[in-house]
Amino acid sequence: MIDRGIVFNIQKYSISDGPGIRTTVFLKGCPASCWWCHNPESQAPAPEMTLVEGRCLSCGECARACPHGTAGRGQGREAACLICGRCADACPTGARRLAGTEMTVADVLAALLKDRIFYEESGGGATFSGGEPLCQPGFLKALLAGCRERGIRTAVDTGGFAPRDQFLEVATAADLILYDLKLMDAERHRAVVGLDNRMVLDNLAALGAVHDTIWIRIPIIPGVNDDRANLEATAALAARTPGVRQVNLLPYHRTWHGKLRQLGRAGADDAIATPSRERMEELVRIFRAAGLTTIIGG
Ligand code: SF4
Ligand code: SF4
Repeated sequence: MIDRGIVFNIQKYSISDGPGIRTTVFLKGCPASCWWCHNPESQAPAPEMTLVEGRCLSCGECARACPHGTAGRGQGREAACLICGRCADACPTGARRLAGTEMTVADVLAALLKDRIFYEESGGGATFSGGEPLCQPGFLKALLAGCRERGIRTAVDTGGFAPRDQFLEVATAADLILYDLKLMDAERHRAVVGLDNRMVLDNLAALGAVHDTIWIRIPIIPGVNDDRANLEATAALAARTPGVRQVNLLPYHRTWHGKLRQLGRAGADDAIATPSRERMEELVRIFRAAGLTTIIGG
């Protein structure tokens, strides 16, 4: 097992990544390239510098702290930046921040144990998300084993992007699998996710044979995957997969725009609106018609 990995966030008191009150640990790295990703800082495997320009006071502390002379207002993402994090440590406002730091299994478990009382009272636990948490399989396995030893219930939020054996080894070590599905058609999936969906569908079939607590999560991206043909095909797959207990439909929102700007990347200018409550309820009915417990959000 691997005793350290790259974590970009630990979110406490989460109520949307499984049952009860949870602590969600976000691992860095993802092989997919969905443009709507709500966590674009998750996609690259290595740490990255982020800057919230609105918080910058132009005080120059970051430039003074930078041993390489690359930090400054609106700077720090150039090739010369070594991602040492000294500028972020020096920044008095939190405008500069490293997305991704190396943590040991012991560090993460210590953070989780602080919230144990909330898990016990609410039926919650730890959720490992990303990115694709299976991009760090050894680290994830060690975290799941550590949680089990300490009596912390676990969930893994995955897109199923991992070789079968590795996927099943990790998935069967978790109490709950949150399984993300986007598009059933292979060509459409490849066009927007950047990967074939064969592995995703095969891993779900294999998972259904060995795991009895699976929640299917579907981001609803208007104009991309919210057509009836795609959702009926997804509902049919979920209904015939043993172990699927519920479906969560997650409405698109634009929070990723600001995050992309903080990373200094272009592309955050789509005009897609969050689907209305009525539209989401219409889509829920497609899944309920297939006999599936279905909720909006979560
Ligand atoms: S991360 Fe290090 S090298 Fe990069 S800008 Fe900050 S202080 Fe300079
Ligand atoms: S230290 Fe922070 S607030 Fe000061 S100039 Fe740098 S980024 Fe801006």
